[in-house]
Amino acid sequence: MNENITVYSEREAVRNHADELAALGKKAMIVTGGSSSRNNGSLDDVISALSSHGTEYVIFDGVEENPSVETVVTAAVAARENNAGFIIGVGGGSALDAAKAIAFLAEKENTDHKLLYSGNDDSRLPLALVPTTCGTGSEVTPVSVLTVSQLGTKKSVSHRLFPDLALIDGKYLKTAPLTLIRNTSLDALTHLIESRLNTKADNESRRIVDEGLQMWRSTREVLEGKPADDEMLQTMMKASTIAGRAIALTSTTLPHGLSYPLTIRRNIPHGKAVGYFIAGYIAECEKSEQRYVLDRTGFSDINELQAWYKELYGAEKADGGILNDAIELLWLNKPKLKTAPFNADLDALRRIAEYT
Ligand code: NAP
Ligand code: FE
Repeated sequence: MNENITVYSEREAVRNHADELAALGKKAMIVTGGSSSRNNGSLDDVISALSSHGTEYVIFDGVEENPSVETVVTAAVAARENNAGFIIGVGGGSALDAAKAIAFLAEKENTDHKLLYSGNDDSRLPLALVPTTCGTGSEVTPVSVLTVSQLGTKKSVSHRLFPDLALIDGKYLKTAPLTLIRNTSLDALTHLIESRLNTKADNESRRIVDEGLQMWRSTREVLEGKPADDEMLQTMMKASTIAGRAIALTSTTLPHGLSYPLTIRRNIPHGKAVGYFIAGYIAECEKSEQRYVLDRTGFSDINELQAWYKELYGAEKADGGILNDAIELLWLNKPKLKTAPFNADLDALRRIAEYT
């Protein structure tokens, strides 16, 4: 399915566009995580919007962080048993990515998990997404990243799964602790940087990245502990969505590719894990491109960026074993290696992983 998403990024987006949400079908399955959507008001907003139109719904609240293929299959079976005609993902990237894959699988003749990773059929149930973190941009990307336990890593499903509707409201970030804001806003930053420093970058993606970096820069102090007002929270959401648009055009590159084993096997949150490799990645790129990224993010050089990362997260080094595994896994992913605008041989991957 091609990108044809209706996106609203505004205060009370869900309430304001309840009619468009309810128009997606007769009965919804709301896909969400264990608790945060109950605490930040997003689940209530979605339920009120559906109820105001007499639209039925069931709730699947079993999405874990870094959602697994198994969870998606369980939810897709439940969606079919409950005759859900459309899916609403509510939460962080985990809930949104799971919702995309569920919308795909629930509509198939059977719910065999292998369908997620085979063929190029992008058909799915109608799908709306309501993000509550400011990092993945999943609400505008075609990507659904799932944990595949047999592989010991995470893998994007083979299908391009854009939603029909994205309803984005910064108020849901009010309950987010600083560490979550940091992790997710850093994810958005890495999307912007990886989209720019990418062989698939073109004029359109560069224009989007430029806009996103400007927004991200205006909220950087929030990561450093400055309290955020409502406008700032909405800007953080917008920067994340724009970063999602950028990677929807270019895909991510090596820092994301290296990060997955750190998340799966060392439990390091996604944004922090990707951020671990970002300075080393920039250092491999042309000087003029390095300058571009550093100027727009407000760092004088790569060392200052790396010091900033360590200040936010601590200077702890990932252990050599996991870094080696990350390199070996990425080395098998030849299409990903080609997205780096330099010769991504094993030496380059080691330099990125060992950059201090
Ligand atoms: P997340 O894994 O969705 O959520 C992390 C934690 O934050 C969960 O415990 C969640 O609680 C909680 N949470 C969510 N919103 C909250 C809020 N407003 N206030 C307080 N707590 C909140 O985190 P994420 O960083 O947004 O998503 C990471 C996932 O997205 C990874 O699997 C990553 O691979 C994927 N990703 C996807 C794309 C894409 O294009 N599709 C791009 C980058 C990353 P609950 O569990 O209770 O909900
Ligand atoms: Fe990411």
